[in-house]
Amino acid sequence: MSNPGGSVSRETTQGSVSRETSTDLDTPIGAAAERAMQVLHTRNRLPRPQRRRIFTVANQKGGVGKTTTAVNLASALAVQGIKTLVIDLDPQGNASTALGITDRQSGTPSSYEVLIGEVPVQAALRQSPHNERLFCIPATIDLAGAEIELVSMVARENRLRTALSELDGFGFDYVFIDCPPSLGLLTVNALVAAPEVLIPIQCEYYALEGVSQLVRNIEMVKAHLNPQLEVTTVLLTMYDGRTKLADQVADEVRGYFGDRVLRTVIPRSVKVSEAPGYGMTIIDYDPGSRGAMSYLDASRELVERDAADTGEGRRR
Ligand code: ATP
Ligand code: MG
Repeated sequence: MSNPGGSVSRETTQGSVSRETSTDLDTPIGAAAERAMQVLHTRNRLPRPQRRRIFTVANQKGGVGKTTTAVNLASALAVQGIKTLVIDLDPQGNASTALGITDRQSGTPSSYEVLIGEVPVQAALRQSPHNERLFCIPATIDLAGAEIELVSMVARENRLRTALSELDGFGFDYVFIDCPPSLGLLTVNALVAAPEVLIPIQCEYYALEGVSQLVRNIEMVKAHLNPQLEVTTVLLTMYDGRTKLADQVADEVRGYFGDRVLRTVIPRSVKVSEAPGYGMTIIDYDPGSRGAMSYLDASRELVERDAADTGEGRRR
């Protein structure tokens, strides 16, 4: 696989292995099993951030990997000892599904009730069945009407931010807000509630299309509603090393966003797309897979960057 100016997780086995097991590891299944063991039994716990980090995962372009990135980064952090919350702010509810929250009939306490102020955050918090440190505020179909309902509400852009101030005391170190593919009031609420924006960009034709509009919107929210807001992280997704195009896109994105682009690139992988169908993230579904390894790498990079960052101003 060629390297688009960054690193792509590869199906190689790291660390030393005994002579006996190294024979087994010559087979793909053996190697995958070994990697899965490394992931599941890793004792390498990541350091907690000094303050809770809240990311809005946004890109108004559809299908670029927002939800996949939100749930898999959250899951990757959770298996490494970090208590993490995903807020599903997309009426499609894909993040809730991927985290195994299946009972989401209308009326179930969800991100909708939290936004509207009908229930406290605590009432909507759900634990993912796959990890005791991974939580979700799910979305139900009720959220579909929220864009319109919010229009006439007081402080309509600040509602999520106000609700999230109740999170103190729950011990969440990382929060990811999964946005719908639009720049409407739901996304604006997410941008007002979070100091950091994470933009997933798919390594495909027209990857940067719409990104300048997104950046302009972020600048507007920053100027008027949330001075702390910064695009701190860009993640290249669905990278296909067999195509020249993927490398070109990666170069173009790095040219635009510079070192805000993570070195880790998420490869296109069937397993990653299969996992939500089982109500799982790739970290639970196939921890030894390339997709899981790449999201684990990306999660570590996220944590390392925070530790190296002395700019306390952008975090709360
Ligand atoms: P939407 O804008 O509809 O909310 P999204 O930006 O959240 O979409 P995802 O739902 O995460 O995008 O991904 C879009 C589709 O691509 C999904 O079917 C997902 O399973 C698939 N997908 C995401 N990442 C990968 C990957 N690395 N390899 C293969 N398929 C992927
Ligand atoms: Mg989505």
